[in-house]
Amino acid sequence: MTKRLYYDSAEMREFDSVVEDVAPLTPEQSRPAVILRETAFYPTSGGQVHDTGWLTVNGGDRGAERLRVSEVADAEDGRIVHYLEAPAKLPLAGAAVHGSIDPERRRDHMQQHSGQHVLSAAFVELYQMQTVSFHMGEDYCSIDLATPSVKSAQIAGAEKRANQVVFENRPVRVRYVSRAEAERLGLRKLPPAERDELRLVEVADFDLSACGGTHVSASGQIGSILLRKTEKVRQGTRVEFVCGDRAVRMARRDYTALSEAAALFSAKLWDVPDQIRKSVEESKLWRKQKDDALDQLAELMALAALQNQPETNGRKIIVRAFSDRDIGFAKLFAQKVTRVGMPAIALVASTVDPPGLVFAQTSAQASGGAPGPTADMGALLKQVLSSVGGRGGGSRDFAQGGVPAGCNVNVEQLLREAAGTIGA
Ligand SMILES: [Zn+2]
Repeated sequence: MTKRLYYDSAEMREFDSVVEDVAPLTPEQSRPAVILRETAFYPTSGGQVHDTGWLTVNGGDRGAERLRVSEVADAEDGRIVHYLEAPAKLPLAGAAVHGSIDPERRRDHMQQHSGQHVLSAAFVELYQMQTVSFHMGEDYCSIDLATPSVKSAQIAGAEKRANQVVFENRPVRVRYVSRAEAERLGLRKLPPAERDELRLVEVADFDLSACGGTHVSASGQIGSILLRKTEKVRQGTRVEFVCGDRAVRMARRDYTALSEAAALFSAKLWDVPDQIRKSVEESKLWRKQKDDALDQLAELMALAALQNQPETNGRKIIVRAFSDRDIGFAKLFAQKVTRVGMPAIALVASTVDPPGLVFAQTSAQASGGAPGPTADMGALLKQVLSSVGGRGGGSRDFAQGGVPAGCNVNVEQLLREAAGTIGA
């Protein structure tokens, strides 16, 4: 088993050790790996993400070699595996190494992890909500609470209490106890029975839990705890949060986005939600006015077209290609033509990208049960589209389709073809 130096010194960033084992590149293993006698590198576990850093090998005649540690993992046998960025000139077993941990990354992880303990304890203290899991991501962290929902007042309450504990700068200590003693102490979370000795992390007079992670030595070092969104998950409610530097970065990002939004509205920062509400309402109203106007326009155009078109075989056939209106308007126009009450057929197209066709006829019902000779719109559309590889279809009275984008189809020509087929 690798001796874990971080257990007793979370502050250690530099250490000396000896190479115990080396796993070279193989077809199965894309990265070489090194196992040391002892290490201060933290392997991904307990929700906390691994460290990164450097191993400097004193290679004697070969000179010093710097190896980049890109990932650190726990092996099943209790050893810690340092994965190296490939390709690397590997040291030999027995070689002396000096390890250096990326300090910023480790400090960030300590802030997040200690912040999580404080936050989880705050949820228990105030609302009896237990944390069932902890996740540390690249941008934010999250805990899953064993509760179906968390109210926004509870989010604010837990955040306030957790930050109070941060401001009080309480000592954070690590100690080891037997399992029996741990049970007596009443931990917030007791791990499943495995080890005889437990490592406890204590935030003085506030939280006591079993944990193998690296923690700050006083709660003030967490900096601040900022709660963000909540989300329903299978095991309860997920609460996103960020601590320390991340909280500052996130707040800066939020502020920048909000400032941009405020500038667009020429509004004050906190008036942005009101401005957005107003804008949404306005655009709803405009959309409705536009739809009404288009509906009226289509109706007037349909009436004019019918008036100017002589009857053929007891019905009026309107053929129209719109070059300045979309397929939605073409459809509206066709509906108006065929719903006025007189037997009519509308063969309509829009040449606006993507071009499309709408064929419609007055239904037997709408024309008073006595229509002139009718056609099958669905079949007619399929027939003219099949010649150009278009797709579409519909019923006997209404059909809609499109021609493939980018292909040079003369839509007016298709309309003439359709009109010819039904003897217009
Ligand atoms: Zn922990």
